[in-house]
Amino acid sequence: MINVINLNKEFDNLKVLDNVSLEISEGEKVVIIGPSGSGKSTFLRCINKLAVPDSGQIIFEGQDILSDSVNINEIRQQIGMVFQQFNLFNNKTVLENIMLAPVHTKFRKLQKKQLAGITKKEIKEQAKKEALELLEKIGLVDKANVYPVTLSGGQKQRIAIARTLAMNPKVILFDEPTSALDPEMVKEVLELIKLTASKNITVVIVTHEMAFAKEIADTVIFMDEGKILEKGTPQEVFD
Ligand code: ADP
Ligand code: MG
Repeated sequence: MINVINLNKEFDNLKVLDNVSLEISEGEKVVIIGPSGSGKSTFLRCINKLAVPDSGQIIFEGQDILSDSVNINEIRQQIGMVFQQFNLFNNKTVLENIMLAPVHTKFRKLQKKQLAGITKKEIKEQAKKEALELLEKIGLVDKANVYPVTLSGGQKQRIAIARTLAMNPKVILFDEPTSALDPEMVKEVLELIKLTASKNITVVIVTHEMAFAKEIADTVIFMDEGKILEKGTPQEVFD
């Protein structure tokens, strides 16, 4: 599904990705571990073009996403990302946070005449219904109309995950989703990620939660100094 070929990236003469290649199958759960500064975030960010490598290719379902002809918004609808710091919009309610991208995407399609027979009002109503269903599923429907500032870290991250799920992506990239959380909130977020990963969705996750990695991963990757040093099943890598 994703074929990463010979990615290289430098920041200020520091080689952050050193000829990294990786194939990811549809539905595969890939866990990336490695010390701080080893290039994990940069690698993940390249996969949905939040960072642009100096050289290399990223083929997603047959299409090189780094090519200029690719509509990156369409790629990012299919490859969602969840960040350590949640990145919720603080001036929008929980419901608005979840509705924003689906509504925006459909409005754009309407404008481009790729979507017909639906009004803007209906698009919003549909997105609201789906957002409320998602909130129901993650047990946070009572938070629909509050602002993120009133939420705990664990709740914020669960909302951020719901926001990504609202786009119905094929792939979700998680960058240390529990590293900013108080210990007592880690579990609820890992449980939601596990639930998410139990579907056919493809997941790439950077984490320091080793027990979780063992449980969820098909493939574990150990990165250091911009290189993949180990790759295998959890058993192969940990034992
Ligand atoms: P990790 O996620 O494994 O901790 P990163 O990919 O965040 O590693 O960073 C790898 C290296 O690249 C680090 O030395 C970091 O300081 C550097 N780096 C990351 N992003 C930038 C940037 N935007 N500008 C300059 N240096 C960066
Ligand atoms: Mg990082």
